[in-house]
Amino acid sequence: MQVNSNNFVSLAEIAIHNPELQDAVSDGTRRAYDKRANSMFADSNEQGEAMRHQAFEAKRRALRNLPDLLEKAESNLLSNGFKVLWAVDADEANRQVQAILKDHEASTVIKSKSMLTEEIGLNHILEDSDIRVVETDLGEYIIQLNNEPPSHIVAPVIHKTKAEIRDIFIREINMEYTDDAGEMVAYARKMLRRDFLNADVGISGGNFIIAETGSLGLVMNEGNGRMCTTMPNVHIALVGIEKVIENLEDYATLDQVLTRSGTGQNLTVYTNIINGPSRESEVDGPDEVYVIFVDNGRSEVYGTKYTEALSCIRCGACQNACPVYRSVGGHAYGWVYGGPIGAVLTPLYTGLENATPLPHASSLCGSCKQVCPVDIDLPRMLLDLRYDLVHEKVDNKWQLGLRGWAMGMQSPLLYGMGAKAARMGQKLMGDNMPGVLGNWTEYRDFPDFAPKSFHEMWQDRQKGKLQ
Ligand code: SF4
Repeated sequence: MQVNSNNFVSLAEIAIHNPELQDAVSDGTRRAYDKRANSMFADSNEQGEAMRHQAFEAKRRALRNLPDLLEKAESNLLSNGFKVLWAVDADEANRQVQAILKDHEASTVIKSKSMLTEEIGLNHILEDSDIRVVETDLGEYIIQLNNEPPSHIVAPVIHKTKAEIRDIFIREINMEYTDDAGEMVAYARKMLRRDFLNADVGISGGNFIIAETGSLGLVMNEGNGRMCTTMPNVHIALVGIEKVIENLEDYATLDQVLTRSGTGQNLTVYTNIINGPSRESEVDGPDEVYVIFVDNGRSEVYGTKYTEALSCIRCGACQNACPVYRSVGGHAYGWVYGGPIGAVLTPLYTGLENATPLPHASSLCGSCKQVCPVDIDLPRMLLDLRYDLVHEKVDNKWQLGLRGWAMGMQSPLLYGMGAKAARMGQKLMGDNMPGVLGNWTEYRDFPDFAPKSFHEMWQDRQKGKLQ
């Protein structure tokens, strides 16, 4: 997916002035935030915090042993009959998927929700080579019909109201007018059923790869995921290399915090552990299952001060808690991942120079860290990214500004001249400040400068003008 994160400010401005988006995002995030708190701490605060701590340990242990775990996972996946491929970047991953589809003469692909495939832009690549790609998660289906990317990790269509979704269905798939959400869902299900029956290949992401058993863990609420992974003869799972964990105990732990943090459920409707293609005695299931481990920038983050970002389990809780995300939604962030985790991952995966506003898209209130089920210190990483912006000279305006400020503060003459100029400027312009200051004063009052500096008042006093 193309990166448009340097336009964060103008995209945020558009989002702020979109009343439907404001209603939908604030309502959706508030409900998800409340549901998470109720579910995570249903028994007691101690119990909820203990679960978070256990999940933190499981992911950090997995990250510490990542190279060994990946080798172990590959070996056990192969023993279970999976085919395992490795992709260093988006291009390679897309080429591998294309090659598999070509081998199987596939023309229609059904997909369950996967942020990684959004990250590598798989749908567009496949569509350009005349493959029909059908998103089957309801939220993804809606945004695919409307030709837009997801705006939330867990709830891709959180930015749309029910009325907007109704209009998309009427326009794109000829649904008869209804305001009943159940009828809309039933209509979408009817449309998708044909594709489930006719697809050649199913594509999914993967929530976890369990190294010890060589299994793929997938959690979901809609039956579409199970259809995608069992009905076509071929299933391809694209998984980030950071998704590998040690064992089934860790899967149980992480699954519990993922579902509670993501959707406020103790468990999602479907919890899958896929152990390879169908066995001889089994009548259902695909003949071939591929796991493609995708790096795409992750190994460059591994071993740096940002390593802990790789323990993200994509629950979306930090998005629901973030006052910035709640105001502007996900599209303003200009890439796949919005909210605090997006403000960290986008510069890390796509280059700091491609996402210079994102480390500043935070009030640093700390809510994201507080709700994160694996306790990722997002505010600390946002501060580190701001530091990198200045010290790696990616964002020169801060450096130039601070240098000018330092010069002014060290020279009484410059300081006095600057203060006079500021007072005069304010008198002339009033509240209509130019440039960056204008962005600030558009929504806030700029405090008035004192009419005279302390030095001037002191001199007046010496001359007897002031008592
Ligand atoms: S950073 Fe934490 S809260 Fe945010 S999506 Fe990842 S796991 Fe969830």
